[in-house]
Amino acid sequence: MKLDVGAPADGAPKSLRERIAQLRAQVDDAAASVGRQPSSVEILGVTKRQPRETVLAAIDAGLTDVGESYVQEAHEKYADLPPVRKHFIGHVQTNKAKAIVACFDVVQSIDRPEAARAIARACRELKKMVTVLVQVNISPTERFGIAPERAEELAELARVEGLSVAGVMAIAPRTEDRGERLRAFERAADAFARVGGTLLSLGMSDDFREAIACGSTMVRIGTALFGARG
Ligand SMILES: *Cc1c(COP(=O)(O)O)cnc(C)c1O
Repeated sequence: MKLDVGAPADGAPKSLRERIAQLRAQVDDAAASVGRQPSSVEILGVTKRQPRETVLAAIDAGLTDVGESYVQEAHEKYADLPPVRKHFIGHVQTNKAKAIVACFDVVQSIDRPEAARAIARACRELKKMVTVLVQVNISPTERFGIAPERAEELAELARVEGLSVAGVMAIAPRTEDRGERLRAFERAADAFARVGGTLLSLGMSDDFREAIACGSTMVRIGTALFGARG
C-alpha cells in the first residue's frame, strides 16, 4: 500500500514511508558527522494538527514515538494506538494533569514545581507511571521552561514526588543564526548533564542537525515528516 498523507515540501519524497526513511538517513548522517552512533538519536513524530489516519500510517511505517502539544487534541487521536510511546510536549496546565497522565507515557514539559506535583498526583490517582523530562528555557522567544541553572533542583523535586525523571527537553530560539542555536542547545546539554538520565529531547525540523551536534538523543519532528500545518 502506498501511503500519501500530508503535503511534502518541494523536492521531498512523496510517501510518508519515504519521508520517514529520508529523515532517518539525515539524522544518521548528522550523528555520524559529529562522531556519534546513528542509533543514539531517536525520532519523535509530532502529529499535532494531523489526523489520526496519519498517525496510524506513520506507526505502520515504523515510527515508534509520537507527540502532541494539546491533550484535547490527542484524546481521541491517540486512543487505542498500536504499541508506541506517546509524548506530551505542550504546556502542562495543572487542571489537565489527570487527562495528560491518562493519555501519555512521557511528559516532556515539566517546567515548574506545580507541574511536577500535579503530574505526580495524577499518577497516584490513576495508578499509572509516566516518565518525565524537565523542560528548560534556552530562548528569549519561549514562554515556558525553567532556567537551565535551576533544572537540577526541579528534577530533584520531581523525583521526591515519585516521578521518574529521564532527562531534559528544550525548544531552541527562533533564529537563523546557527551559532546562537548551538549556544542555546549547549545550555540544555549542560542542564542534562546535571539532571542525569538518558533522554535529551532537542531539535525540530529546522534545527535538528545542530541539536544532534550538541548531544540530542531525541529529535521532535513535525513539518519535515508530515508537511506544513494548516
Ligand atoms: C510543533 C512542535 C515540534 C515540531 O516542530 P516542527 O518544526 O514542525 O518539526 C517540536 N517540538 C514542540 C515542543 C512542538 O510544539
